[in-house]
Amino acid sequence: MIDQFGRNITYLRISVTELCNLRCRYCMPAQGVCKKDHADMLTEDEMIQAVEAAASLGITKLRITGGEPLVKKNIVSICRRAAAVPGIQEVCLTTNGILLPQLAKPLKEAGVRRLNLSIDTLNPEKYAYITRNGSLEDFWKGFHAAMDAGFEKIKLNAVLIGGFNDDEIEPLAELTRQYPVDMRFIELMPMCDSAEFGSEAYIPYTRVLEALPEAKALPKDGSVAKLYRLPGAKGNIGLISPVSAHFCGECNRIRLTADGKVKPCLHSNAEYPLKGLFFEGMRAQLEQAILGKPQWHGSLDVAHHSGAGRNMNQIGG
Ligand code: SAM
Ligand code: SF4
Repeated sequence: MIDQFGRNITYLRISVTELCNLRCRYCMPAQGVCKKDHADMLTEDEMIQAVEAAASLGITKLRITGGEPLVKKNIVSICRRAAAVPGIQEVCLTTNGILLPQLAKPLKEAGVRRLNLSIDTLNPEKYAYITRNGSLEDFWKGFHAAMDAGFEKIKLNAVLIGGFNDDEIEPLAELTRQYPVDMRFIELMPMCDSAEFGSEAYIPYTRVLEALPEAKALPKDGSVAKLYRLPGAKGNIGLISPVSAHFCGECNRIRLTADGKVKPCLHSNAEYPLKGLFFEGMRAQLEQAILGKPQWHGSLDVAHHSGAGRNMNQIGG
């Protein structure tokens, strides 16, 4: 479906849970989230009905995210059923990778074609710091399980944080020479719980290019990332710049939160509830959300925090 500003909305990101087995400092509070009443969250059947309604409006691509989608007990079933909805051409998933040793193969068999894995640092102490106690070793076990499972594409995501990992741009980028994966650097977005970061943490994507003078620009591939490649690399470098150079003009996505709210824009507090509705009602709400999608998200920086009104784990990054 085409929105008011001529954008063809074909991509739905579904957060299947707000919960997570890590506590990344830029994403969620140290104590985690208050577990919401089960009755307020979408059921698996409601999620699938929302996908059917979205597909009837022209959504062809789904990304399953969270919170951490792999802590959801019925994640494999959700993926399998979502991938089977007529009109859905591609199901992808974003994960911290920790539970992939058990789940990579079942997810691949359920129809998940592509995986994004989050990895902000190659240093075990820094990984434990930024995730508030995650184990880098567990991440690598998950990464290798994903490589073995044979997904069509694996992308690694690092949130670029000045004073934390700007000294690791080169070694992170080197992973694209070592493995057939893309390495993407995402500018830190000022969400509620990223308030602990000072202005020095918000660095623009151009820092990556300064650190990688050999990187050659490539044509865009339809995603929001600017693409580069190191000589001899097996994968691309992607730069995602929601803060310094927003890409709202090409945004083709809407989001569905685990508690059943359609969010037409990550950084707006506009929400269209689906909980308790059936196909027709969900379709009408999705249509309203697409028509209500704002032209752009306004300035974002240390002084202008996101208007999302939720942390990232409650939206689905
Ligand atoms: N738990 C999964 C993971 O970490 O990949 C999926 C959910 S997580 C919210 C999705 C993505 O959002 C991750 O790549 C994470 O790094 C990113 N993210 C979370 N908070 C962010 C922020 N304040 N700025 C930029 N990216 C953020
Ligand atoms: Fe969990 Fe992902 Fe948020 Fe980290 S970024 S706290 S892994 S949801």
